[in-house]
Amino acid sequence: MSNPTPISSEPAQRILAAAQFAAEKHAQQKRKGAAQEPYINHLIEVANLIAGSSDTLDTELVMAGLLHDTVEDTSVTQEELAQRFGNDVASLVAEVTDDPSLPKEARKVLQVKDAVKKSPRAQTLKLADKISNLRAILASPPVAWSLERRRQYFHWAKQVVDGLTAPNPRLKAEFDMVYASLNNSANL
Ligand code: ZN
Repeated sequence: MSNPTPISSEPAQRILAAAQFAAEKHAQQKRKGAAQEPYINHLIEVANLIAGSSDTLDTELVMAGLLHDTVEDTSVTQEELAQRFGNDVASLVAEVTDDPSLPKEARKVLQVKDAVKKSPRAQTLKLADKISNLRAILASPPVAWSLERRRQYFHWAKQVVDGLTAPNPRLKAEFDMVYASLNNSANL
């Protein structure tokens, strides 16, 4: 692999470079929902939620939002992220990456248990991720998921969010609103 060109210091350029990298790496991936949306839709939604969660732009955190699933879902490594986008972005992504050696259920248990240990910025990322996932289940539930399974996902996401010690207030309010759909959505 050729060495990547050094990344600009301009926030917009840095964010767009992360968006392009994520789009390329997730190009073959679709969301699990019936509508099969391109996976990048999820990443842009998460980054946009993070950008709107504060009046001051945390460029690195928005970039991490775009890149948060690269290590878990694609061939990208931690080192590559650090080399291209810097250590701050790479370690934020590491904080929200599940251990791939563990089975799915164990990972879910750990996400609840470990929520308390995450840095406040990683907690913001986690919260944005869960909002996007719940919205996706509401808008376009995975075909193979029973109502029970969808509801279980909602309950699990809430357990993770309840474990966060410093949830961003704007995103927490948004999460609570989406979670409340549990009681009034035809898809749940
Ligand atoms: Zn995600």
